[in-house]
Amino acid sequence: MFLQYGICGYLRYSCANSPTVPDLAFPQAALSARLQLPSKKPMPAKPKLGQNFLNDTDAIQRIAASLGDLSDHTVVEIGPGLGAITGALAARAAHVLAVELDHNLAILLRVHFPPDRVTVVEQDVLHFDFETACTEFPEAFANGGERLLVVGNLPYGITSQILLKLAASHAVLDRAVLMVQREVADRITAQPGSRDYGLLSVTVQMYGPAQRLFTLPPSAFTPPPDVHSTVFRWRFAPRFAELGVEETSFLRFVRQCFAQKRKTLANNLRAAGVPPAAVTAALVQAAIAPQARAEALPIESFAALWRCLKANGAALS
Ligand code: SAM
Repeated sequence: MFLQYGICGYLRYSCANSPTVPDLAFPQAALSARLQLPSKKPMPAKPKLGQNFLNDTDAIQRIAASLGDLSDHTVVEIGPGLGAITGALAARAAHVLAVELDHNLAILLRVHFPPDRVTVVEQDVLHFDFETACTEFPEAFANGGERLLVVGNLPYGITSQILLKLAASHAVLDRAVLMVQREVADRITAQPGSRDYGLLSVTVQMYGPAQRLFTLPPSAFTPPPDVHSTVFRWRFAPRFAELGVEETSFLRFVRQCFAQKRKTLANNLRAAGVPPAAVTAALVQAAIAPQARAEALPIESFAALWRCLKANGAALS
C-alpha cells in the first residue's frame, strides 16, 4: 500500500469516504498547497511501525472529544502519523506535543502544523520522558506544571511497552485516550470472572480505571489492519497507597498469581516459592477460597492476600 501523496492523498481519501472533513483547524486548500514531502516520492506505509492511518472522520472527532475540555491543556500525542488526530486536537487544545518516530512523517507534520500550536518531537516514544517534557519543551506548556493528557492510535506492535511506560509515568499524567487492538482493550478493561480478566487487567487498573469507548472495523484505516480496534480511556489514579500495597512487590506478586492459567492461585504461589503453610494461612485470613483461581479475584482481594502474606512475614520474591 502506497500513500502516494502524503497528507494530501490521505485527505482526498478521507474526504471521499465521508461527508465531513477532518477538523484540522486549517483550510484544506492551504493544506493542498503546502503538504508535499520535499522529494515528492511515493511514501510507503511502514507495517513495522504499525502505520495504519485513521480515515474515519467521525472517529477522529470522537477521540479528541473523549479527552474532555482541552482548552487549557497540552496534549501529548503518541504516533501522530499523517496528523489526522493531531488536527482535531490542535483545534481544541492549548498545544499538542506530537511524538513521531518516522523521520518523513515528522517532516510532513512540521510543514503542516504551525509550531505555536503543535510541537513535533521526532523520537521513539519509549524514550520520551513524560516527566521532564514540561521543562524540555517549555513552548508547549504555557500553563506550566500541569498533569499531561495523552492520546494515541498506538503502533500495535509495542502496545504493552507503551502501556508500561505510561504506568511508570503516572505521576505526571492525568488521563489518556488510546486506540489498541480490540482483544487487548478487552483484556485491559475486563472485570473479575470474565474470560479476558488477567495480569494486564489488574496491572492497568491498578493505575486507574480504564473504560472502553468504541470499536472500529479495519476499514476505518488506511491501509486496513487485520484486526478490529478499540478506543479506551484511562484515568491515572493509582491504587497502591489506598490498598496498602507496595507497587513493585505487588505487581510481581500478581504476575506470580496469574503464572499458569490452569493452576489455582495457591498452587501458583507455591510454585513461585511462597511456603505452602503461609499461602494456606493467608488465604484463610483474606477470606479467599482455597481452590480460587486468580481469574476470579477482584483487585481488592489480591491486595488483601498480599497484605496478609506480608504481615505473616512470607518472603515475597
Ligand atoms: N495517529 C495516526 C492516525 O491515527 O492516523 C497514526 C497512527 S499509526 C497506527 C501509529 C503511528 O505511530 C505511526 O505514525 C508510526 O510511525 C508511529 N510510531 C511507531 N512506532 C513509534 C514509536 N516507537 N515512537 C513514536 N511513534 C511511533
